[in-house]
Amino acid sequence: MFEKTSGYQNRAFVAGVTLVFSLVIFFGSQRILDQNVTSAIQSEAIKHAAHVSQQVLSDGAQIESIIRHGRTSPDFLEHLNDLLLHGDGLIQVEIHDADGLLRYVLDETLWINQGGAREDQEMALKMARGAPLYELLNPELASKGGRFVILATEPVRDANRNVIGYIQMTIDQSGTATLFRRSFEWLIYAIPLLMVLSYLVPTIVWLFLRRRNIKTEQLVQHLQRRDGLTGLMNRATFTEVAHSIFETPAQTPFRHGLMIVDIHQFRTINDTLGHSMGDALLRNVAESINAAIRVGDIVARIGNDEFMVVLPNMRADEMARVVHRVMTRLRRPYQHGDTKIICRLCIGTHLAGPDELLDDAIQSADVALAHAKDCGPDTVTSYSTDLDERRHRRRKIEAALRNAWEDGRAFLNYQPVIDAKTRRVAGFEALLRLRTTDGELISPDEFIPIAEQTSTICGLSRVAIERALTCAQDWPPDIFIAVNLSPAQFRNGDLVETVRWTLDQTGISPDRVEFEITESLLLDEEPEVDAQFAALKALGVSIAMDDFGTGFSSLGYLLNHDFDKLKVDRMFLEDLKANPARQQKILKSVIDLGQQLDLKLTVEGVETVDQVDMLGQLGCDLFQGYYFSPPISEEDARAMLAKEDTGAA
Ligand code: C2E
Ligand code: CA
Ligand code: CA
Repeated sequence: MFEKTSGYQNRAFVAGVTLVFSLVIFFGSQRILDQNVTSAIQSEAIKHAAHVSQQVLSDGAQIESIIRHGRTSPDFLEHLNDLLLHGDGLIQVEIHDADGLLRYVLDETLWINQGGAREDQEMALKMARGAPLYELLNPELASKGGRFVILATEPVRDANRNVIGYIQMTIDQSGTATLFRRSFEWLIYAIPLLMVLSYLVPTIVWLFLRRRNIKTEQLVQHLQRRDGLTGLMNRATFTEVAHSIFETPAQTPFRHGLMIVDIHQFRTINDTLGHSMGDALLRNVAESINAAIRVGDIVARIGNDEFMVVLPNMRADEMARVVHRVMTRLRRPYQHGDTKIICRLCIGTHLAGPDELLDDAIQSADVALAHAKDCGPDTVTSYSTDLDERRHRRRKIEAALRNAWEDGRAFLNYQPVIDAKTRRVAGFEALLRLRTTDGELISPDEFIPIAEQTSTICGLSRVAIERALTCAQDWPPDIFIAVNLSPAQFRNGDLVETVRWTLDQTGISPDRVEFEITESLLLDEEPEVDAQFAALKALGVSIAMDDFGTGFSSLGYLLNHDFDKLKVDRMFLEDLKANPARQQKILKSVIDLGQQLDLKLTVEGVETVDQVDMLGQLGCDLFQGYYFSPPISEEDARAMLAKEDTGAA
């Protein structure tokens, strides 16, 4: 705004100065020219008057006779008459004696002897010096185009060169002057006009160039301050403006709000639907946020797919409304060309404390956003202090996951799976463990999802497979080893190769190896998953469906895929306590189903002898649970097997 006003004032000033200069140049040069023309006319007229007076004075004897005796000859009179009639403007002739006394007047109309009627002593004195005198009558009027009359006064001398009087001739040069003036008139306008133009044209060109430069400068400034794609503020400008907002404390009871909007899986959208779709989507997000916020709020694109909004003087309920508006707008299907997508978002918000600085507030909003992202798309999280703790814990787990095997923080425990008939160990399930740098043991339920999000799961699981199979090498040949697989390993694509390589390396028979997968892996029904499932089976290993009964469509997957075993989730046993008769019926049908499909059946979470008895009666094949043993170390597992061996022997 300020720039706009000062630019306008500058332009008005320059235009004003230019106008004044142009007028001064125009009228000044016109006046000088006019004066020059007038003096040129005057000198031309004087030259002519001199010529006329020479003609009048050509008969000196006659003039002397008039002055001395008041006599004139008809010839002289005729001569004068002739001059008056055709004498190029001569309109009057006066002859004075040495005292200035008028002796004769002759004009166009009459010849009058007015001897002694008038005297001009002053002129007589001037003439006594012997120099002729030419003067323009009424110069003021003459210069403005009035009559141009020259009064030519010449001394008259006798034979001895003494001044005996003077002759005064009135010569009208108006005709010549008009002619002269007319021929110069266009110059009087043309030259000042040319001068004005010679000043104005470069000035206007200069002004034009300057304006263009200013515009270019403004454009450069704009580009420097804005994000090229969305037209929103860029990070640097945003930070500057946001700082100035935070410098002024919010008016009680309000607080300054911050909101960070992140587009879920923007990279995938860009990669699969093309950059033009990605760009269009970003522009749409920018517009939608802009439309949802209030006047005075500021928004910027601060990262590839991240937008930050500062909402000065906010209340929690108002903030929630703004967030709701942003969500609603952005959840509308967005069409670009032939493609229609629904944008999914994560939003982190924070209402800053009264003395909170911008950087701290951004950090808190970032923590909220990170939590929203952890919870999955279309989540909004408001910052709270416990988020900091969660974040801290997450960082701790992330740090523990890096190089976990190499640094000895990851290891495997083995939980025995018991044969229902013989009550002997049939195999072990390998269960991953992670210790943090400060020695805390983290549950796989907590670190496996983080490992999946941070892509450390593949390396972690690859080594788990190698270790588990290597460990099982020493066990008796009828003891199987079960390893859990995560969906990320299927996405990575090298699972089958890893298993093949490990089987080769350890020499362990594939029929002793089992992999447990949950139905979440099969949810997407991707052809790659099916192909790897089949490839694993082709290697001769078994595949168990883990946590059976917890998902939505386990049955469908069971029928469509060639599973070897069902692991019934411990949820069934927990529910059994609440409603034994009903739950027993459900368990019975699940076991029957397994038998019908020719699948082995393990029930997880067996904790009591009653459960063991009941499951035995129902025809369950295998038990797993604390009743028999919790997950134990590699050494304990080996000892357990050795003890059984001895017991059996
Ligand atoms: P899961 O595959 O269902 O593993 C069985 C879980 O039940 C284990 O928890 C085990 O300690 C626990 N459990 C065994 N018997 C009983 C019992 O009688 N009562 C109760 N309440 N719990 C019992 P854990 O070891 O904490 O593992 C949790 C989950 O972590 C596993 O569930 C599995 O899904 C995942 N997981 C563990 N190791 C790995 C691994 O190497 N790779 C992958 N991808 N996931 C793993
Ligand atoms: Ca399992
Ligand atoms: Ca399970």
